[in-house]
Amino acid sequence: MPSLSLSLNVPGFPKSNSTVGSFFRSCLRDLKNTFVAHRIDIHEKEAIEICDTAGDFYLIPFSIDDFGLNEIKQICEDFEENHPLGRFVDVDLNDQQGNTVSSGKSKLCFFCREKPAIECRRENAHSFDELRTFMFSEMAVFLGCQRKKQIIKKLASLAQQAILAEIALTPKPGLVDRHSSGSHSDMNYQMFVDSTEAISFGFDELVREGFAFQNDDLTKALPRLRDIGLQMESAMFEATGNVNTQKGVIFLMGLSLFACGKLFSQSDRFQVGEFRNIIRGICKDMVRNEMGNPSGKSHGEKVFLKYGFSGARGEAESGFATVFDFGLPEIIQEKQLNDESMTKCLLAIAANNNDTNILFRSNTEVLNRFKNLCRIALDDFNPANYDALADVCKQENISPGGSADLLAVTTFVWSVIQADKQKHFTF
Ligand SMILES: [Zn+2]
Repeated sequence: MPSLSLSLNVPGFPKSNSTVGSFFRSCLRDLKNTFVAHRIDIHEKEAIEICDTAGDFYLIPFSIDDFGLNEIKQICEDFEENHPLGRFVDVDLNDQQGNTVSSGKSKLCFFCREKPAIECRRENAHSFDELRTFMFSEMAVFLGCQRKKQIIKKLASLAQQAILAEIALTPKPGLVDRHSSGSHSDMNYQMFVDSTEAISFGFDELVREGFAFQNDDLTKALPRLRDIGLQMESAMFEATGNVNTQKGVIFLMGLSLFACGKLFSQSDRFQVGEFRNIIRGICKDMVRNEMGNPSGKSHGEKVFLKYGFSGARGEAESGFATVFDFGLPEIIQEKQLNDESMTKCLLAIAANNNDTNILFRSNTEVLNRFKNLCRIALDDFNPANYDALADVCKQENISPGGSADLLAVTTFVWSVIQADKQKHFTF
């Protein structure tokens, strides 16, 4: 059978190390995808993969039905040309007799990029040390970029999943869910779905900002975070016809995504303590600096002036105390995300949260009654106790929107911890 092989042009000896090995595996993944995408009938079970000091090597036979060898050669050359470090890569093709199928093109030297590689080799134009240092550092940079890209993608999609999971959780007392708009006459389920789509462009941007942030003073991140947050808000208002569906979650999830980016720029593993430290660092003195103004206009500021409860800003300044002390333990206990674990998580948060969304529409007496009912519904988890919450929300026309935002953040943190356990952030 004809065969395809992958190897790397590593001059000198040994021809592999951990960087080269990782780079090789990354190329191999991409190359296999290319084969499958072009419907080349490779015989995966007969593949040979070797890694030793003579270099990383992969060889695979394939059937030649629809493709001529020259067409496949072209696909291999395109792969080398389109790969950012394709000049280090050799994808070779052999026919049924074992002869190399060559296109006759000569490659440029990957180091000087001036002369054909074969000439530089013949003339010993560059020393092995020089070539190897250059090559390993290019590979390391490439792998670092790939790692960053994958982490950003993963975190952005986990944020989206967490927000959608909170919205879809049904039933929820006073809140918009799939079957009811709760205490919100101006919102519905579809509006939340649309608004989530509208703000999602900001998720990967926020992680990227976290990766790039170098200042020791974390509070310096706030203007940039706000800038992205404001763009997300205006997209939200546009999608909802000027209804505030997700301002709170934009703030809290925005901080979380940025903090994750910062954390993974300096570590391979997710660490809860470090995550919380970064959040606390960014939001240091935020309540004092931003909420004492007697002409405060936002709901949160008005509630703070009247009752002294600091809402989402206070929660952020504490490093998400309610999320970690009350919400997360409920999901950890259930070991998975499902209706029950998320409902219990919401109850545990709401039983302990001085929700400014509730206070804005009522008073401390109603808030305390609601918190007590949440405590009862959590301690004795049954439909009757849970329904009692929906009733009080209806009577008092209140909605625990702040707690719902914290549920989304808790869900996100849980998912990041799971992804970390599954080595999604380790390369
Ligand atoms: Zn050269």
